[in-house]
Amino acid sequence: MTIYHDEVFQMACDQFQVIADYLNIEKNDRDRLMYPKRSVAVTLPVHMDDGSTNTYQGYRVQHHLTLGPTKGGTRFAPTLSMGETAALAMWMSWKCALANLPYGGAKGGIACDPSKLSRRELEAVSRRYMQEMIPFVGPHTDIMGPDMGTNEQVMAWFMDTYSMYTGYTVNEIVTGKPVSIGGTEGRREATGRGVVYLIDRAMDILKMNPEKCTAIVQGFGNVGSVAALALAMKSGVKVTGISDATVALYNPDGIDIVAADRHVLKKGNLRAFTEADRVDPNEMLEMKCDILVPSAVDRVINEKNAEKLQCRILAEGANGPTTPEADLLLNKRFGEVFVIPDILCNAGGVIVSYFEWVQGLQSFLWTESEVTDKLFRILEHSFVQVIKRAKDHKVSHRTAAMAIGVERVMKAKHARGLFP
Ligand code: NAD
Repeated sequence: MTIYHDEVFQMACDQFQVIADYLNIEKNDRDRLMYPKRSVAVTLPVHMDDGSTNTYQGYRVQHHLTLGPTKGGTRFAPTLSMGETAALAMWMSWKCALANLPYGGAKGGIACDPSKLSRRELEAVSRRYMQEMIPFVGPHTDIMGPDMGTNEQVMAWFMDTYSMYTGYTVNEIVTGKPVSIGGTEGRREATGRGVVYLIDRAMDILKMNPEKCTAIVQGFGNVGSVAALALAMKSGVKVTGISDATVALYNPDGIDIVAADRHVLKKGNLRAFTEADRVDPNEMLEMKCDILVPSAVDRVINEKNAEKLQCRILAEGANGPTTPEADLLLNKRFGEVFVIPDILCNAGGVIVSYFEWVQGLQSFLWTESEVTDKLFRILEHSFVQVIKRAKDHKVSHRTAAMAIGVERVMKAKHARGLFP
């Protein structure tokens, strides 16, 4: 399948084959489960501020349509490809199924660097993307949300563009919107909060005292900053390392995360934050800590560093941070490194997106504490199931989590049958 030719897609396929072997999935079912159902590529011509016209490539992949509409984030990143988008859509499928949400996975995005666009250019690119996607998405077909490089404002432009087309407000076409236009209280914080809820549960199981624990968080965007804040302010963990695309910072006495967060709100990144020492970003992942939270890009835990990790808990805030080669090495360290796999660890985002979608469809309103309470209940259920299956079947947490997701999708496909 050449349109998906990409290392990240290959990684998602390799992971799937491990699960398919473990579940003894028949050959006939494998490709049907693995390959995306629909993929759309669009070219987006946009007027730039200097009078020139730039064309950008946009993608949307809908992985399977078996359980309901598809759901997934929108990534704006310079190197985004169809293959990477397809990998992220596949992971979304297993993630939604693990949390028992009535969705197939999707993902989309634009190959662009949002930090290099003016606000007007970003709006133009965002609106053009949604306009090109209108024939392929809808509140009962495919619902978009935010991901790396996009935020509440981009979701507001998506929603407005779609609503202008229909002639009435369709706020359930996207999630992660501003609360002022139908967004859900607590959606912005949901992924990071979920990550820390699960870290707290892992610390419970491992009998670790949070006040004596340290954490290193890679990525200081939506997921990483909220996770770092919750670790420091709610769980009482000392955060000794943080990083973003510009710099990695370390302070053995703990970094003032509130100050770092304020700094990023003002300056846009951590580059000029001086209250910690600069360290090599790759070495930061290998530094001693109790909890390591990769919350940025994929494949940062790989065969080169998996054996060198010194953490007790690896909490995967990002999608696909650990390669299958690293998994093999981490599996050998099963009792040493407690992995909270991505499709469980960062599921908080899509769970609260689901609430936001339901609220939009039904015109409901829930308070932030109701939303957070429901979020934690679903995460707790998924966490308990994953830990139990891993223990009963003597498999890794990733295998257990993915197997639960894949099995649910397969069961639904078998129940519905193959048309015609
Ligand atoms: P974001 O754009 O808000 O933030 C990304 C952060 O990562 C930024 O601080 C950026 O500077 C940093 N970064 C980028 N490249 C880096 C690198 N090479 N090394 C270190 N830092 C780097 O994105 P986000 O929404 O926080 O998403 C982060 C990860 O979490 C992605 O893998 C995304 O798919 C995943 N995720 C996000 C959500 C969500 O709700 N936003 C939900 C589930 C999973």
